[in-house]
Amino acid sequence: MLILDFLCWLALGSALEMKEHLTIKTILLFFLPLMFMSEMIQLSHSITNAFLARLSTPKEIIAAFSIAFGLNIMAGGVTQAIIQTGICFITDRTSFRRLLRFCLILVLLPFFLVELIALTPLTASRFQAPPAPDKGERMGFQTAVDAFELLLKEAAARDRVNLVFFGGEPLSNMKLIRAVTEYAERRAADEGKTVDLSLTTNATLLTDDLIEWLDAHRFGLTISMDGPRALHDLNRKTVGGKGTYDVVAAKVRKLLERYRSRPVGARVTLTPGVTDVIAIHRHLKQELGFFEVGFSPVTAGDMETFNLNQTELAEVFAGMKELGRHYLDSALKGENNGFSNMHQLMTDLVEGTRKALPCGAGLGMLAVDNEGELNLCHRFTGSDLPTFGNVADGIDKPRLGAFLEDMLDRDDRSCRTCRIRNICSGGCYHESYARYGDPAHPVHHYCDILRDWVDFGIEAYTRIMDENPEFFTKHIEPRRALP
Ligand code: SF4
Repeated sequence: MLILDFLCWLALGSALEMKEHLTIKTILLFFLPLMFMSEMIQLSHSITNAFLARLSTPKEIIAAFSIAFGLNIMAGGVTQAIIQTGICFITDRTSFRRLLRFCLILVLLPFFLVELIALTPLTASRFQAPPAPDKGERMGFQTAVDAFELLLKEAAARDRVNLVFFGGEPLSNMKLIRAVTEYAERRAADEGKTVDLSLTTNATLLTDDLIEWLDAHRFGLTISMDGPRALHDLNRKTVGGKGTYDVVAAKVRKLLERYRSRPVGARVTLTPGVTDVIAIHRHLKQELGFFEVGFSPVTAGDMETFNLNQTELAEVFAGMKELGRHYLDSALKGENNGFSNMHQLMTDLVEGTRKALPCGAGLGMLAVDNEGELNLCHRFTGSDLPTFGNVADGIDKPRLGAFLEDMLDRDDRSCRTCRIRNICSGGCYHESYARYGDPAHPVHHYCDILRDWVDFGIEAYTRIMDENPEFFTKHIEPRRALP
């Protein structure tokens, strides 16, 4: 670079000598190497930008920026020499116009190259801003109706069916939810069934009218909230970047004051920086008044920056065990402290659950996306795992059956000898798929933590069973019986 820079300055000197005898050919010959240099600089910019767009951690991005910055400084010297050389060629209007033409070419070619690279599918996906909640892709009414009809058909032998609204922000499409609810209640009644409705929301769009309407239809509500302001606002922001805590907390207070039909729970997404389980639970349960609080540690999400590393994961589970000890203390006094992960573990242990499969995905539950495709669960919507049919043609049972059969066979996947196999059964399909590209892969990145968590639960269960077994009859059986 420095040598080329030097050559440009030499050329500048020569140009001063020969500017009286310039022709287009002379200019072309003179400028070609310079143009080539400039193209290379712009190309390196494009490659650097494309590379940056694929990075996910702040450290990598800062390192890549510093390299790009260094390249820019080196390249800047040459560009400056080109400009100054060019100025020396201006003797009259004609030469000015010619130079302008060259400069335009110099700008336009790299521009097209930059665009070409920036719009490759991989970089384009990174550059795209997420759609505003009310501008995202939406499900049509007919797709929702077909989905519910498929549910009724597949659940012919059952007297209850569950309809869950999840993903994106359901409250941003209330027109559809109201219409589908009305349809589902009517059709379920025609078939002699009860439909159980649930919805997970970030609460930002809740209004008094909506609270009343949801209550009247006995929706099971879960609010996505990450704790006190400082933690909640880390990841939950408006499209403009402002934290949503104040709005959400005010709406949640109103909701909890008025909602009567069913208990309302909070769902916390644990990510780097949002790991103080005790403080989060205290705020949501005691200060805001949720009935129960569940924690979802993110270990294999689509965005690497949101995934907890091993140290953070260990910190999260240490917090969960501490909260589990509070749960135990309360249970011995006959109270449920609303820590839903622990309560679920106690439920599994009391009921003697022996899971052959990790969860109900694909068994009693499928998730319908906005195009009507049938996914294993809501987490797989939009993923590249092939779907299992669609609402128009029905469930692709041979494919789904083959998938579940494969999942049942965990013997060669190192779960065979695991002591918590009957409770974990291989872990979340989506975690495995996101992390290892295979939904059947055991969640090895936190097997030890899971085993420790289940051992901890068994100890707590034994103490409660010994010292206050009534806790289970009072708090677990009624929970199962919740409408
Ligand atoms: S903890 Fe790991 S090895 Fe054990 S059952 Fe779960 S995924 Fe399999």
